[in-house]
Amino acid sequence: MSRSAHPAGPRHADVLPEGHYSAPPADLNRLDPKVWSRTVGRDERGRLTVGGLSVAELAEEFGTPAYFLDEDDFRTRCRAWADAFGSDADVFYAGKAFLSRAVVRWLKEEGLNLDVCSGGELSTALSAGMPAERIAFHGNNKSEDEIRRAVEAGVGRIVLDSFQEIVRVAHIAQSLGKRQRVQIRVTVGVEAHTHEFIATAHEDQKFGIALAGGQAAEAVRRALRLDGLELIGIHSHIGSQIFDMAGFEVSARRVVQLLAEVRDEHGIELPEIDLGGGLGIAYTSEDDPREPHHIAKALNEIVTRECEAAGLRTPRISVEPGRAIVGPTAFTLYEVGTVKPLEGLRTYVSVDGGMSDNIRTALYDAEYSVALVSRTSDAEPMLSRVVGKHCESGDIVVRDAFLPADIAPGDLIAVPATGAYCRSMASNYNHALRPPVVAVRDGEARVIVRRETEEDLLRLDVG
Ligand SMILES: *Cc1c(COP(=O)(O)O)cnc(C)c1O
Repeated sequence: MSRSAHPAGPRHADVLPEGHYSAPPADLNRLDPKVWSRTVGRDERGRLTVGGLSVAELAEEFGTPAYFLDEDDFRTRCRAWADAFGSDADVFYAGKAFLSRAVVRWLKEEGLNLDVCSGGELSTALSAGMPAERIAFHGNNKSEDEIRRAVEAGVGRIVLDSFQEIVRVAHIAQSLGKRQRVQIRVTVGVEAHTHEFIATAHEDQKFGIALAGGQAAEAVRRALRLDGLELIGIHSHIGSQIFDMAGFEVSARRVVQLLAEVRDEHGIELPEIDLGGGLGIAYTSEDDPREPHHIAKALNEIVTRECEAAGLRTPRISVEPGRAIVGPTAFTLYEVGTVKPLEGLRTYVSVDGGMSDNIRTALYDAEYSVALVSRTSDAEPMLSRVVGKHCESGDIVVRDAFLPADIAPGDLIAVPATGAYCRSMASNYNHALRPPVVAVRDGEARVIVRRETEEDLLRLDVG
């Protein structure tokens, strides 16, 4: 199934290029609620609105490119996850997807916990008042300084990622006179991605400690011996943008099996398991993500069943959605610049951003949707590629898109579902100024991360 490289295709798409994944949508002006956040619509002049404000007003006030985050949608998703998992489980938002102090406050208000994986994320979380006990600290190479800060702050858990780290964290905690709550991250031999998962016997990757070969069991043995550590559970994270629960099924079964081994060897039942994040969202109308209550029900059933079979008490479950909470809440607004039709191929539509504000297309071959949002159009669909302004031919935002054939410089277009891993992975390539994140709610727009300025760039360049 090729979803990316389509060598040819007529400009006006009356014949689809070979292997193209979808026909042009019946109505180019329609905004599919699957890929747009909940308060998005069009006003009587055909302009996209979010939180009651039109993109024309937003572009005027905040400029382009910019990310607009639908706060109501964000909070609704937080509540959906918290409600679905209930009081017997914990939801940790994966901060790496997108983190700012406003986001931390929303999470705190909506009762979610927070995963961080660097000193920078930790200080953002603490500075916005997230209680330390609701923070989990991750990472395959945490520095001693980061570990010390996390232990001193009193984070609720540190997720141990290697044999060396078991000793490192124990030593630091002990030197601070503390006993740190920890989980051990294991690799279960499951790699899940989108619609498939692959079960492998051994793991060729940098994260975690393998269940295979008794390594995870040995890690548990060592952690239990160290005074600086309180081992509370086992952690597993199997991939990203996952739609199928089968990978979680295998992973939960293997983790529960380890819990049973730990009980048999040490006479203790570890009280928690964390099944990680990775739940998929709709980037295009073709994606069909599961609702949080469906995911919660499936995970609870799997864990309960496996524990019953092993004669274990059901541990407290935690999950760590990042993308599934913030991804669908934001879109990136761009202004169209150069429009370059390549006869017999497609039309390249250049925007005022690109791989500096969305690296996912170049990095992962990610798919996105796009729409003309400053007006509606009755022009026919035109096979397009939305590209940025960077000095790289791989600088693609949306590889295959249908835009109205009358698209012109000065139009505004928007790419939905850019809340996760876009601003957080943004770069200054070509000395681009990273765009702002503007939160919109109930007719009000507020900058939560401001646009970078040339002054910001020059401040770092000390000559
Ligand atoms: C990245 C990551 C997550 C979040 O993944 P999403 O795909 O954004 O849900 C959760 N847990 C861990 C350990 C991760 O590394």
